[in-house]
Amino acid sequence: MNIKIHRGLHQIGGAITEVSTKTTKIIIDFGEELSPKQPIDEAKILNGCDAVFFTHYHGDHIGLYKHIPQTIPIYLGEIAKRIFMVLVERTDRENTSLANRINGFIPLQKILVGDIEITPLFVDHSAFDSYMFLIKADGKSVLHTGDFRGHGFRSKGLIPTLQKHVGKVDVLITEGTCLSRSETEPLTEHELQIEAKNLMKIKKYVFVLCSSTNIDRIAAFYHANPQGRYFLCDAYQKDVLTVVKENAAKWSNLYNFEKIITYGENIEDRFIDRGFCMLARSRDDHRKIIDKYPKEERLVIYSMWKGYLSGESKNETITNFLDEIDYTYLHTSGHADAKTIEKVINVVNPETIIPIHTENSDWFNEKYPDRTVREDFYMV
Ligand SMILES: [Zn+2]
Ligand SMILES: [Zn+2]
Repeated sequence: MNIKIHRGLHQIGGAITEVSTKTTKIIIDFGEELSPKQPIDEAKILNGCDAVFFTHYHGDHIGLYKHIPQTIPIYLGEIAKRIFMVLVERTDRENTSLANRINGFIPLQKILVGDIEITPLFVDHSAFDSYMFLIKADGKSVLHTGDFRGHGFRSKGLIPTLQKHVGKVDVLITEGTCLSRSETEPLTEHELQIEAKNLMKIKKYVFVLCSSTNIDRIAAFYHANPQGRYFLCDAYQKDVLTVVKENAAKWSNLYNFEKIITYGENIEDRFIDRGFCMLARSRDDHRKIIDKYPKEERLVIYSMWKGYLSGESKNETITNFLDEIDYTYLHTSGHADAKTIEKVINVVNPETIIPIHTENSDWFNEKYPDRTVREDFYMV
């Protein structure tokens, strides 16, 4: 079995991994870079490719899906696909049919492509319905982690899943996003919810700026919202949450988004009376709504990565939106901390580790000098 990392060995985002045998070639993730650094020859990578598997719907993993020829089947989690479709219909309507051709899979559904077997394993991440892939061929096994974390609402299953369905592997291809970001223990999503609850009690009008597809974060705020208050969003966000409710409420009350109201000026009086939590996005009309409410009675929570606020990943749409607003930062990462990565390595006990989606692969070299490789090509 051959493994080739086309991109992503020394950067976060845009990772593209190829796994091939003599007769079959698959690609894991085909994403855009967060900021363009390393150009790739897409046609060459896709030449002879039998299928592309996406770990989740974040742009740095799925962003180049439109460039994949229709003759190559593409795969994403079933519910992730439905959420992605709502997003595409809103932001890129003319390409709806391209997104619609994505094949959905469910956890543990083995997919055979030529002589390669792929098993999707559910993981908790800031994208809903995200997966690791266990890849088996030529008597060897590879675990590709995608993006994952150990401090989410649904992270408890991580280690048991690996113990039960994976065990020892030959190669681990793992993300290491947080290894360069912070050494302190991350806030759990549950702790974040408690903190949100305390903050929201104090002010009557709460606005939350978070990703429209970070469903677990939205669930944290939804359940933190004091009783009797409205939970508001726009029509697009409601469509996303309806997909989640219809597909996932049966597993957990967390996704029971029953009482969500689309913001409308005609019914504003009710909101003023009872108070609310509103999911806002960096758009002019949402900013106008925020400005309607007196500063002393409102709370604006910024619940996304701090990197968008300054530095090389600064997002001007967001910083302009927040201009002259006093906001409170409340966020936790969608990525595994060092301890969680160590736990995964202990369970799957790989001969070889290939770090991707990280700016600190030295962490692996220092910790696992005999196991780590950073070359773009590896034969197992
Ligand atoms: Zn990513
Ligand atoms: Zn991601």
